[in-house]
Amino acid sequence: MSYPELAVHTMTTKPWSITECIEGYARRGIGGISVWRETVDGEDLCTVRRQIADAGLAGVSYVRGGFFTGLTAGDRGKAIEENRQVLREAEALGLPMVVLVCGASVGQGPRENISQIRDGIAAIADEAQETGIRLAIEPLHPVYAGDRSAICSLAMANDLCADLAHPNVGIAVDVYHVWWEADLEAQLRRCADHGWLDAYHICDFKPDQEDVLLDRGIMGEGCAQLAAIDAWVMENGFDGRREVEIFSRTWWERDQGDFLEAILEAYEDIYRGGLE
Ligand code: ZN
Repeated sequence: MSYPELAVHTMTTKPWSITECIEGYARRGIGGISVWRETVDGEDLCTVRRQIADAGLAGVSYVRGGFFTGLTAGDRGKAIEENRQVLREAEALGLPMVVLVCGASVGQGPRENISQIRDGIAAIADEAQETGIRLAIEPLHPVYAGDRSAICSLAMANDLCADLAHPNVGIAVDVYHVWWEADLEAQLRRCADHGWLDAYHICDFKPDQEDVLLDRGIMGEGCAQLAAIDAWVMENGFDGRREVEIFSRTWWERDQGDFLEAILEAYEDIYRGGLE
């Protein structure tokens, strides 16, 4: 079996080193890899870039930049510098896209957060474009609105893209975060029609999850209407890879090869069997 249309986020197999991720994904015929900063912390990025290419994997995205908000101008300036560093790392790794978790600061409201996010993205969008790296805003589920992202629906991400109107800024749609939106089909169409549908992350949302961050489900374990969402994404002409992004404390305690096998089995069921 091979899965050229699939990519995996290295945080999915968190216990693995970057070398183990690259080998483990390539050996299973997975086509692409999205690299988390945490996975390559302390690594020689040029070596990692070569390993990815030698394994025949496509580098999809670098995860993650963002966190643009801050209570002081100094904090916000530091955030922009940090994002410049993220861009340099993505460039060294040869990754064409940086995913943005936009940020939210305790002590200020959504409108201030959103305005600072807009300013932060605007500050780096040209530089990113010059280095050939696209910026993808990832709206997060509103449960994270307090301290991770004030952009908490695809509707809000679309509004932000419209406001920014920058040709180098689009959106990363993650089913975990947006499955609940009643107008998701229309928002996906709006996103795609404007050329913003840059990335598509899959997993599942377990309604009985034990941890809002580290208990994501494998596709089919939760309540997201994955087949319907996938149909909407594909009908709108998405031509990138489906990216598996699952944070699971339970699975991280187990063999990561077994985890990947379980992911691929679920993928077959839902994304190949179910739609054919
Ligand atoms: Zn995601």
